Amino acid sequence: MNKYWSSFVAGIKPYTPGEQPADRKFIKLNTNENPYPPSPAVIKAAREAAGEDLRLYPQPECEDLRDRLAQYEGLKRSNIYISNGSDEMLAFAFLAFFKKNEPIYFPEFTYSFYESYCALFGIRYVKVPLGEDFCIDVGEYCSQAPRGGIIFPNPNAPTAVMMPGKDICRILEANPETVTIIDEAYVDFAGTGQESASMAGKVEEYPNLLVIKTFSKSHSLAGMRIGYAAGGGHLIEALARIKNSFNSYVADRVSLAAAEAAVADSVYYRGIRERIIKTRERVIPVFRGLGFKVTESGANFIFVSHKDIRGREFYDLLRERGILVRHFDKPGIEDHLRITIGSDGEMDILIDKIHEILEKKKGGM
Ligand SMILES: *Cc1c(COP(=O)(O)O)cnc(C)c1O
Repeated sequence: MNKYWSSFVAGIKPYTPGEQPADRKFIKLNTNENPYPPSPAVIKAAREAAGEDLRLYPQPECEDLRDRLAQYEGLKRSNIYISNGSDEMLAFAFLAFFKKNEPIYFPEFTYSFYESYCALFGIRYVKVPLGEDFCIDVGEYCSQAPRGGIIFPNPNAPTAVMMPGKDICRILEANPETVTIIDEAYVDFAGTGQESASMAGKVEEYPNLLVIKTFSKSHSLAGMRIGYAAGGGHLIEALARIKNSFNSYVADRVSLAAAEAAVADSVYYRGIRERIIKTRERVIPVFRGLGFKVTESGANFIFVSHKDIRGREFYDLLRERGILVRHFDKPGIEDHLRITIGSDGEMDILIDKIHEILEKKKGGM
């Protein structure tokens, strides 16, 4: 600990983001970025916004984008709030709904930012073990009546497993006194049907439901930092109180223009989403054929393990071959890798390299 540090800063546990190497060109399958570019309309809107008006502050309450999103989600402006990436919205929500004496509940293996925010904000938590095949155990969240609140991603990360909407409703109904946050960073990749897997449409029905979404993954805008929440007006008001105690302008003019254009071009985004789902459905049987265990995925990544190779070693062998994937050094999932679904070409190279690694392994034994 440095002598200038507060004991507070020495005690927190910062989140470690996936590598973004600058030294060499990798096939990046480690941070769940979209392999396809943003819609041309989005790039045009961002370019146009990068003009003289940048001398002016953006809308502090992001009304235009909220109106667009409200229309898209079938809600009202008062049900939507904007943040600088959804990680920031999670921070607002932890402060608004979870900073109290009772612990919050989240899955044992999940987005590790939740633990970082608990450490930062002094929130106690209980990690609930996952059930069979890495499914979130719905019963645990219903019977234990978590007094502080509940949060999990749906689909969960890094496991990729999706919880059906009816199970989320059971959790919401069993816990009417606390907020349940569903982090829907990957929900757009759930399936190709017309029916959305998002719970955003249910926020008026469930006053204890907050849904958090992002433009980073399904809308190819990780570099732009736009996230949003959908919830009852009473929850949105609490988020606004936190945000306005912290930063008046969370989204800049360029990001707002880009995000508005992205919402408007739903045809383009449906197209790239379906391509990614198609690639995922093509590669999962290939992985299984190579002896991998692969969880059911409703996301733009897969969660895999192989009985012949330890997770860390596999990560290293792929890295040597120019492919980055994500390995979590946590007991219980240390022999798994999380692999982002890239383009078909990238996945073919990955599969070639895996063949090579497995062959070499066999030869060496
Ligand atoms: C990527 C991700 C986010 C945050 O993304 P932002 O880029 O901050 O919008 C939130 N939750 C989960 C589970 C994620 O994987």
